[in-house]
Amino acid sequence: MISVLVTGGAGYIGSHACKALRAAGYTPVTFDNLETGWQDAVKFGPFEEGELLDRARLDEVFATHKPVAVMHFAALSQVGKAMSQPGRYWRNNVQGSLTLIEAAVAAGCLDFVFSSTCATYGEHDNVVLDEDTPQMPLNAYGASKRAIEDILRDFEAAHGLRHVIFRYFNVAGADPDGEVGEHHRPETHLVPLMLEAIDGKRDALTVFGTDYDTPDGTCIRDYVHVSDLVDAHVLGLKWLKDGRGSKVFNLGTGTGFSVREVIDHSRTVTNREVPHVIGPRRAGDATKLVSGSVRAERELGWKPARSDLRTMIADAWRWHETGHYDK
Ligand code: UDP
Repeated sequence: MISVLVTGGAGYIGSHACKALRAAGYTPVTFDNLETGWQDAVKFGPFEEGELLDRARLDEVFATHKPVAVMHFAALSQVGKAMSQPGRYWRNNVQGSLTLIEAAVAAGCLDFVFSSTCATYGEHDNVVLDEDTPQMPLNAYGASKRAIEDILRDFEAAHGLRHVIFRYFNVAGADPDGEVGEHHRPETHLVPLMLEAIDGKRDALTVFGTDYDTPDGTCIRDYVHVSDLVDAHVLGLKWLKDGRGSKVFNLGTGTGFSVREVIDHSRTVTNREVPHVIGPRRAGDATKLVSGSVRAERELGWKPARSDLRTMIADAWRWHETGHYDK
């Protein structure tokens, strides 16, 4: 079987990517330090525990599995923490990625799929964001991802590292078969926090700010189903293997929902009240992040199938009620 190295394969998006790779005929090799991932989520291929900053360990894993490509998901990804611990974000995300990229080049593994983020764009007043929108990140998380994009470009020029960069909008939902799902500890993301508040597993959800310049005053985000998102990665891998060259793609649906709209949909999907209180803005949050691009659909042939808000919340709710991981 042909192997693909999946960093962060024990995490939320990485575990879904492993399932999609397996379905496409690859062996996904998970490389993860289990800091935020779950060993139980590694179900679709071998597991290699390790740190991205450990070059010798990476060299060993490349030598053992001889992957034909890397999908790089492993990163610290909380906007709030990035504001208070910028050093950790720069070291882990940038230095860790650089170490991985150098190891990949040394091993002759020159096809690289990278998880970037719409947080690299920052605040752009009511402009839809396409891949050419200037990147002006508001926080160390977005800045660290933008820096890795720059590193990839330099390594292409110097060493021929071909890359597909996916800039994610807001990922939500869970595997419709219930094999893997979203589980962060601590949880910071809107949809799972809301579901935990609905069934009393935590106190009321705090809505971070109602004084934004949006119709209902809450932030607007473009939500994408995790299964659709990882399908794009398999298409990205095929794109590279077909020799179509390095490219950036936004992964969003082009439709934005406010925090209040997400709460309203959750009420109707679960038939339960969503306990919530209004709080202050969260530092580092942009008012509106919505993809204005259909490049992924037009050029990659990506067809999001489950990215309507109701389906995403219903899949997340099913996972919330039935799925779980233990360390
Ligand atoms: N949000 C909120 N309360 C929470 C968590 C998130 O109001 O407890 C809001 C947040 O301000 C943003 C949206 O929900 O507007 C999505 O936030 P999340 O952390 O899920 O993803 P991000 O946009 O930071 O990638």
